[in-house]
Amino acid sequence: LIKPGRTILASTIAKVYTQEIKDNIAKLKQTSHPNGPLLVGFLANQDPAAEMYARWTGKTAESLGVRFELRQFDDKDQLEENILTANEDTGVDGIMIYFPVFGNAQDQYLQQIVSIEKDVEGLNHLYYQNMYHNIRYLDDENKLKSILPCTPLAVVKILEYLKLYNSLLPEGNHLYGKKCVVVNRSEIVGRPLAALLANDGATVYSVDINNIQKFTRGSGLKFAKHHVEDLGDFSESLLKKLSLDADIIITGVPSETYKFPTEYVKEGAACINFSSHKNFNDDVKEKASLYVPMTGKVTIAMLIRNMLRLIENRNAK
Ligand code: NAD
Repeated sequence: LIKPGRTILASTIAKVYTQEIKDNIAKLKQTSHPNGPLLVGFLANQDPAAEMYARWTGKTAESLGVRFELRQFDDKDQLEENILTANEDTGVDGIMIYFPVFGNAQDQYLQQIVSIEKDVEGLNHLYYQNMYHNIRYLDDENKLKSILPCTPLAVVKILEYLKLYNSLLPEGNHLYGKKCVVVNRSEIVGRPLAALLANDGATVYSVDINNIQKFTRGSGLKFAKHHVEDLGDFSESLLKKLSLDADIIITGVPSETYKFPTEYVKEGAACINFSSHKNFNDDVKEKASLYVPMTGKVTIAMLIRNMLRLIENRNAK
């Protein structure tokens, strides 16, 4: 049976960025970083998905010429002090933490103590604030680019690869006319992702367990940044109605058993899953035009790209 659409793997999409990253690292090796830059990952949970992601990060980083060091702790309370030490260490270029650590608000505190100049995941409040306000640079001369949170950024790069961004449209409006559903509204991925897509001109329906919200720049894209409107409590019927009208469906539900109903997918829609569990059933391939079952490898490419940008910004200062 010939399927009408295509499944595209994250590894294929990540390759687009591999050469650019390698070239930049080769340049760094001839100047400020003879041994290549150093990325440090902090792991203090027993989550096998986090550990696997850490191993992939290491493998990918090293294949690109980046040194990767995983610092693992059984005692979560040791993280803070060790992160502060890495902040001060001029030999460390990038820092990331594998979340959840405590699984509560203390994780946000840990996130914010990572030096803003080493925050490869782009989770610092200033980066978020810039993103939510559609501010793309850190300085008045527009020389230092702001950093974007790497998983939402990876999804944007995937949508570009899938040609859902239309570069014929004016800069900043490349998603004008597209309707997207994002099932996840975490502070790490879902909410920033909905904002990014809406800032680029899309109409985004952001879905979580409790309710459904609409993110847009208003009619005629009249606002410079997205606005949010509550559409009411979560309901299957509303999700179904919005999804059947959506060009793009993105899932990130952290559950093994959750499956986005294939009958809610419009024929020819693009489906992307960033959860570590497959949120779509295999029969989605018979409905979707483009299907990206996982995104982790693109996220890792974005981590390393963010690190190079941080080094560039530091060197420019
Ligand atoms: P989280 O637990 O913080 O957030 C989950 C979100 O999904 C919440 O908004 C919740 O309301 C929503 N949700 C849960 N069940 C739902 C349902 N049945 N219907 C509608 N909404 C529902 O998780 P997170 O940190 O955002 O991570 C989510 C997943 O993404 C995890 O599997 C994680 O491993 C993965 N992740 C992947 C990458 C990557 O690069 N691919 C990066 C970060 C996280």
